[in-house]
Formats: sequence, C-alpha cells, structure tokens
Amino acid sequence: MNQKIKKLLAKYRCLPGKVFSYNASTKTITYIPELLETDDGLLAFLHEIAHLQLNHFSYKYDVELLGIEVEAWELTKKLAQEMKIKINENHIRECLRSYDCWISKRAACPKCGAYSLQRTQNVFGCFVCDCYWKVNDRKDREVRKKIFPKKSG
Ligand SMILES: [Zn+2]
Ligand SMILES: [Zn+2]
Repeated sequence: MNQKIKKLLAKYRCLPGKVFSYNASTKTITYIPELLETDDGLLAFLHEIAHLQLNHFSYKYDVELLGIEVEAWELTKKLAQEMKIKINENHIRECLRSYDCWISKRAACPKCGAYSLQRTQNVFGCFVCDCYWKVNDRKDREVRKKIFPKKSG
C-alpha cells in the first residue's frame, strides 16, 4: 500500500467498513479496505480526508452541500497529486453530477414540476402551485417526497 496512505490511516481515526464516509461529529472516517488497492478507492478515501481536513460540518441547505463537495474535491485532487495517485476526472464529475441530480429531484415540485425553494432542511415549497412537501435525506436512496397540507393562517 502507498506509504502516505498508511500514514493517514494511522494519523486519523479510520475504521474499516462497507462505505467511504466521514462522520463530522466523531471525526471518524470509514473506508473499504479492499478498495484501497485501487486508484478510485484511494481517491474516495482522500475525499473523506479532505472533508476532515477542511473541517466540514453538517449543512442545512442543499446548495451548501454542493459547495462543500466541490471544495472537498479540490483538496482531494491536491492530495492525490502530492501522493502521485492517478486522478479520475470522470469519477469526480460523476460524483458531483449525482449530487446535482439528487438536489434537482428534491427541489422539483411533485404537483407541477417547477423548481422550488428549500424552506428548511427537509421541507420544500413551490411558488407556482403552493404545494409543500417533505423529503427523505438519504443520498444513496431514491428521493421520496411526501406532500403535506400547508397550515392555514
Ligand atoms: Zn463528499
Ligand atoms: Zn408546484
């Protein structure tokens, strides 16, 4: 294994698991051990390191998430260059596109399809037809929307 990656694994709180992820409240990185033998896996690991080094915390609005992801990928590329790990630009683009797609789906009004405003972390409201809906927040699952009646008064 890449010596610099070994150092990172020892330096930070890293746990083997089934996903690459970063938990901001415990500052713990989860990684898939067998994928650390592949360039894409190393890139995914460095991406989580980037979130940690940038001190990223939870976000409230979806637009913030995209900004956070772009920033994390910028640092990921820098780290990868330093470690001479191959950068797969397509993989990075795919990741950002999937977030973009997820965000657009959540914001599309279930009644009229208009692009709507996020009111709180999981509530959206449409300007066009006054429809309100709640969304689930799992990024790795299908987007689900539940319409609810707007409180009168
Ligand atoms: Zn990320
Ligand atoms: Zn609408």
